[in-house]
Amino acid sequence: MSTATSAPPMIKASGVNKYFGDLHVLKEIDFEVPRGQVVVVLGPSGSGKSTLCRAINRLEPINSGEIQVDGKPLPAEGKALAALRADVGMVFQQFNLFAHKTILDNVTLAPQKVRKVSSGDARKTAMELLERVGIADQAQKYPAQLSGGQQQRAAIARALAMRPKVMLFDEPTSALDPEMVQEVLDTMTSLADEGMTMLVVTHEMGFARRAAHRVVFMSDGEIVEDSTPSDFFTAPKSERAKDFLGKIL
Ligand code: ADP
Ligand code: MG
Repeated sequence: MSTATSAPPMIKASGVNKYFGDLHVLKEIDFEVPRGQVVVVLGPSGSGKSTLCRAINRLEPINSGEIQVDGKPLPAEGKALAALRADVGMVFQQFNLFAHKTILDNVTLAPQKVRKVSSGDARKTAMELLERVGIADQAQKYPAQLSGGQQQRAAIARALAMRPKVMLFDEPTSALDPEMVQEVLDTMTSLADEGMTMLVVTHEMGFARRAAHRVVFMSDGEIVEDSTPSDFFTAPKSERAKDFLGKIL
């Protein structure tokens, strides 16, 4: 039996609504991230992109609708919620590394605590991942001793150390100096090439064109377009997307 046809999408959102007080920030959101695919979310500031990412990890509860990860509705609390968060890797604009821990410790901590991996195995995996993101030689340093690009690659290694089923990236290069953006995008591109399922909020249009299977364009809490990158970039349908692309390209 082919898993490609029988398995549910890795992420599925149906009729999701989210309010902050009176502010309706996610409006009837429907979308899917199929297994092994990269979905890039684009849209102006304030359109709800971060809230959507946070809702998938249940860092933000939603008011109505349903989000499923790997075919299962998000658990509300307890062990099941911890397990969900272990399966959904998240990389933020601010790297959120533990400042008082070495890079190696940053990568080995959660697998030992949450996945009950032995310290030897956690260390071995961490060194492999740091090698893969190109900063194995920084393992014994503290975050502040690394460049922004290196810190973000460490944050990616840390998320990967949990062996997540899917990775969420929320503007991972927005806080970086321009010369460090590409090294992080290259790391993400190689992950995508290896078949990692990814939801990526970014303003990096080159990455969206090259790596995305689909582009979701959000504006004012709504998904306005959901299309292939070539359709989106060459023939956006809505005025809002045309306006957005006109400003960013
Ligand atoms: P984006 O990531 O696309 O810039 P966000 O998801 O951060 O958008 O924000 C969507 C809207 O929700 C914005 O109007 C923002 O000001 C508002 N918002 C975000 N987080 C909160 C919060 N914790 N409390 C109140 N309003 C919020
Ligand atoms: Mg945001």
